[in-house]
Amino acid sequence: MDPAVEFRKGVFCYSAAPKNLQYLGLPNPREWQPFDKDWKLPPDWKRIILEGMGERLRKYRSFRLFMDICVRCGACADKCHFYIGSGDPKNMPVLRAELIRSVYRRYFTTAGRLLGSLAGARDLTEDVLKEWFYYFYQCTECRRCSVFCPYGIDTAEVTMIGRELLNLVGCNINWVLEPAANCFRTGNHLGVQPHGFKDSIDFAVDELEEITGIRVEASINRKGAEVLFIVPSADYFASPHYYTLLGYLMLLHEAGVDYTFSAYASEGGNFGLFTSHEMIKRLNAKIYAEAKRLGVKWVLGGECGHMWRVIHQYMDTLNGPADFLEAPVSPITGTRFENARSTKMVHICEFTADLIRNGKLNLDPSRNDHWKATFHDSCNPARAMGLLEEPRYILKTVCRQFHEMPENTIREQTFCCGSGSGLGTDENFEMRMRGGLPRANAVKYVRDAFGVNLLTCICAIDKATLPPLLEYWAPGVEDGGVHELVGNALIMKGERERTTDLRGEPLQGKEVPAHA
Ligand code: SF4
Ligand code: SF4
Repeated sequence: MDPAVEFRKGVFCYSAAPKNLQYLGLPNPREWQPFDKDWKLPPDWKRIILEGMGERLRKYRSFRLFMDICVRCGACADKCHFYIGSGDPKNMPVLRAELIRSVYRRYFTTAGRLLGSLAGARDLTEDVLKEWFYYFYQCTECRRCSVFCPYGIDTAEVTMIGRELLNLVGCNINWVLEPAANCFRTGNHLGVQPHGFKDSIDFAVDELEEITGIRVEASINRKGAEVLFIVPSADYFASPHYYTLLGYLMLLHEAGVDYTFSAYASEGGNFGLFTSHEMIKRLNAKIYAEAKRLGVKWVLGGECGHMWRVIHQYMDTLNGPADFLEAPVSPITGTRFENARSTKMVHICEFTADLIRNGKLNLDPSRNDHWKATFHDSCNPARAMGLLEEPRYILKTVCRQFHEMPENTIREQTFCCGSGSGLGTDENFEMRMRGGLPRANAVKYVRDAFGVNLLTCICAIDKATLPPLLEYWAPGVEDGGVHELVGNALIMKGERERTTDLRGEPLQGKEVPAHA
């Protein structure tokens, strides 16, 4: 019940810059930092938080249930990577939720009002608020704990409400609000403007021509295309994501898909998920607004993590159903994606797996012989949409050496990268390395047992945050996207003989050290 926390360097994220709050219309923009004694809260901050809590208890039945039904069985206790990595008991999911549940009891239950701490209730104080901030920004909203809870309590949703309440009094982190503000302004987290987006895509098209001798078409804002293709912005601006983009462009060209990008819906990711339900809705809306404006039939989405959680868990009631679009049908195989009949959005792995299954791609997996791959199930595609088989099916087709990590670390039980939900900052580095330990440990196991040297994944945040994690805990292993390996293996009609993979590494005779 003791709310004292120490904001020690390396285990917390810096506060959001006032300009980002102002841009998003969020309350109480000001200069402050979590380690300051005075957080410059509004004078009536307590009333604001408690009213906000009451409103959410009325609005979200799940929140009230999660507050009421935990029996403290402890099944979730050792399932959180932050607890495993930090050893801090308040990083047990059950205690993380208890941080807010104790306040709920005090102000919203009769037992708590009458019996106080005897009923597990505690007053809302500034120290409690600081504790919320500390621990709700040490949760990556990965939902691993919920897999093990016999009651289905989803601590990620408790964290989401906790962050939402903190937002009401202006307590938020910059690594979440800056991408959200950028996205609201330019359509993507990085703040890339339309001409920058076009330059990036043009650059990729030129580079592909150098590698394959084939010039692919990649249109932007083309009205009347059949499919709108949305990718996370890191795919066209960061490495190793960029090689995944090359893989997409090759695949869509070779399959003959009539698609377009949008220069405004130039981001699949949605940092609203780490801010508030209202922000999820605001940022997700652009995908469907652009689909309508461009007159496409349905939407294809790239290798992104939380984009798919938003689409699968929240889209229907936030912005949808998208009745103005058609139920997605592959123009190449005729497969009807029944799972997407409401959201009208198909994951690129579903699309590619269907092409492979129907024999529509000519593949040479030996071009990936320099890789011994394993697959990290990114939390959101795995647990929020059940995308477990398709990436594996693709990988085993395009790569001849594939090894699974131990079974309690993959599929629904996958361990988070430790840096999701906006926690991938440098100032938070120690906590990221601690949180990523279980994932990295499983990678280390397959590195040592089978010589694995590539950790594939289908999430842009993973691709950005896994390299330092691997360098720290499992050196010798790189990371990359599934469609990078698809691009390497894909034999395009009329292509010139390939001498390099998409990273520019020589295909033949390349010495890749299997880790000793
Ligand atoms: S597993 Fe579920 S019921 Fe058990 S302590 Fe954790 S949250 Fe509570
Ligand atoms: S959602 Fe993930 S990070 Fe958050 S408490 Fe559960 S296991 Fe831990």
